[in-house]
Parts: sequence; structure tokens; C-alpha cells
Amino acid sequence: MSSLTAPAAPPESGSLTTPELRVDLDAVAHNLAVFRAASRGVVAVVKADAFGHGDIAAHLLRSGAAALGTTSLAHAVALRRRTGARTLTWLHAPSDAFDEAVAEGVDIAVPSLEHLRAVAAAAGAVGRPARVHLHVDLGMSRDGAPREAWRALTGLSGMLAARGLIEPVGLMGHLSHSAEPRHPRNATARMLFDNAVRSAARRGFVARVRHVAATAATLHGAGTDLELVRIGAGLYGIDPSHSAATPLRPTMTLRAPVVLTRDVHAGTGVGYGHTWVADRDTRLATVGVGYADGVPRVAAGRAEVLVRGRRAPVVGTVSMDQIVVDVGDAGVAPGETVTLLGGDGPSLREWADWAGSIEHEIITGWGERWTRVHRGGATQ
Ligand SMILES: *Cc1c(COP(=O)(O)O)cnc(C)c1O
Repeated sequence: MSSLTAPAAPPESGSLTTPELRVDLDAVAHNLAVFRAASRGVVAVVKADAFGHGDIAAHLLRSGAAALGTTSLAHAVALRRRTGARTLTWLHAPSDAFDEAVAEGVDIAVPSLEHLRAVAAAAGAVGRPARVHLHVDLGMSRDGAPREAWRALTGLSGMLAARGLIEPVGLMGHLSHSAEPRHPRNATARMLFDNAVRSAARRGFVARVRHVAATAATLHGAGTDLELVRIGAGLYGIDPSHSAATPLRPTMTLRAPVVLTRDVHAGTGVGYGHTWVADRDTRLATVGVGYADGVPRVAAGRAEVLVRGRRAPVVGTVSMDQIVVDVGDAGVAPGETVTLLGGDGPSLREWADWAGSIEHEIITGWGERWTRVHRGGATQ
């Protein structure tokens, strides 16, 4: 994971020699503070390389996260070893090796009897009870236990807890409609969850922490009465409910140098298939990032970048490693910097709209070739 190592920071402004992905750690801390104020405790979700932000777990913990959350056992073990923080992980096959995670005291989400047996076997092998969060499906039909399986799952959990093989820690669910705060599904899901909590307790699984809310639910006050919330998107400035008055700050800026310019006459075609043809004399600037770097190919014809304080359209097709920008008469020269995201440049929301997608997919899509630079926070 070489991208996790931030190189020596380049000058604050001025020209870049390589594409740069800059993370504003102060904005991340601000966003975390929003969720801390709205809840009783925040599990900071750092899956997908912290939504493409790189290794910022220590910063999140220093900024008051109660725990870390991720989707792979290996990532959870590494995080726990490195930070010593409570770490929850919730996506694994029953065939995964749970020994290390149990030995390290990772909090493991359990969605089925097969998983439960595997986790208990690991606990027996390493001689330490597994810290378990039972995960009940509240309507996602995805990574939680179907409600029909809940009775058996909680029953066996209660028995394994009595035998000291598992330690009942948490009960969790995930909401399918939290981005639509008024959707009736939210109330139904909460009722299902509270019932699941009661029936688990009757069978001997008494959880210390309960959690159902992610970013959108927490912003709208659903599930914030429970002990924990699990926040990913919001830490990185994304409000999935698109509230007009979102308190979140953007956390990422993308800039890249112009590698070549050329002056062309009206009628000049650009790129594969000449999907764009200049309708006037103009200057074109080539920037060395493309769809392999997360610039959505489908955004061609809509996407813009910021150069010399002005928006300029990306023209022609997005290539694997490069895009062409119509910079007109702005006087742009090779070596100048264009802003693809953040600051006065395009927002994540704009990229998502241009790509017909959501901000989450855009923010996690910038590849390995951007130089990650972390600014603010502890690195100051
Ligand atoms: C990704 C994820 C979260 C975080 O959701 P956000 O909307 O990004 O805050 C919480 N819980 C589960 C189960 C997840 O998969």
C-alpha cells in the first residue's frame, strides 16, 4: 500500500510535477466533530482506504473517534495492531481465518451460524473469547442475518457466551432508506431492530453497544439515541441526503499539471473518434490523468476543470491516462496546474452528476497514481 505513505509535502502553491490528491485533515476533523456532537460515540469507517484518503486512522482517533470500522479482517487486524483502538469489521466469509482477529481483540460482526461457529472455533484455538457484534438484516438483504435466522443465531450465541467462547459486545443493523429521512421504512427498520435486541437478550446475548445509523441517519437524528453510530461518507464531506444546509466540509482537492498545449483551428477534431470538434480557433491543454486515475470516462462532454480561475470543459473522450481541456484564450502554458476537484474547482457532487453516479463512487475511485498529501491536523 505505497499510496498510504505521504511523501514530503510539496510547496503550498505553485506548479506540480505530478497529479496530487490533497487531503484536508482539518476538514476531516471538523466533519467528525459534527457527528460526535450528534451522537453518543462514532465508529469512524475507514473502508476503501478511508474512502480514498489514505491512512488517516490515527488522525481520526486523535480527533475523537471512539473506534474504527472497516470491511476486511486483514485491514481490521492491521488497524488494531497499529493503533490499539477498538476496531469493528463486518464483511468476511465463514472460511476466512478469524484466529488473528480474535487474538488481537478485533470486534467481529457475525451474520450467520456458519460465521458464528468459525469465530467460536478461532476463539477456542487462541484461548480468548471472540468479541462479537451480531448483525441483523433490517431490509438491506445484504450483509446482515435474515430475521428468520435470528432466533437460531442468538440462541447459539447465548450458549457460546455462557461457555466463554464469545463475548457479547454489540448488536448492529444497517438502514436501507436513511438518505430519505421521511421514508416509512426507517421507522419499520428501527422497530425490527429493537425487537431483535430484545429477543437476543432473552437468549443470553446482552449487547453493551447497539448501532444502526450511518451518515445520513445520524445527520437526521435517527438511531443517535443508541450507543454508537458508524460514519463513513460524512467524515469525507459527503451528505447522502443532500440536505441544503449540510454542515460538512469537503476534504479532498485534486490538481494536476498541464503536460502539453497546442493551438488549433476551428474544425480540428480531438481524441478517439473525434467526439468533439473545435467550433472556433482555440488552445487545447493535455492533462495526464484519465479513467485509470478515476476520471469517469462517462463524464466526457460534461466534465469541467478549473484553470486560471475559470472553468474549462474536458473535450473529446477521456483516455486511460489523459484528458484534453479546451482552455480557450486563457493563455495557459505547459506546467500550469489545473484543479479537477475541490476549492473553486468542481465539487464531488458535480463529478457524480457528470458521471451519473454518487459521490462515494467518485471519491473512492481516484487511483494509486495520485500523490497523496495530507495537510492540517497532526502533520502541521
Ligand atoms: C459503509 C458502511 C457504513 C458507513 O456508511 P456511510 O453512509 O458511508 O456513513 C456503515 N455501516 C455499514 C454496514 C457500512 O457498510
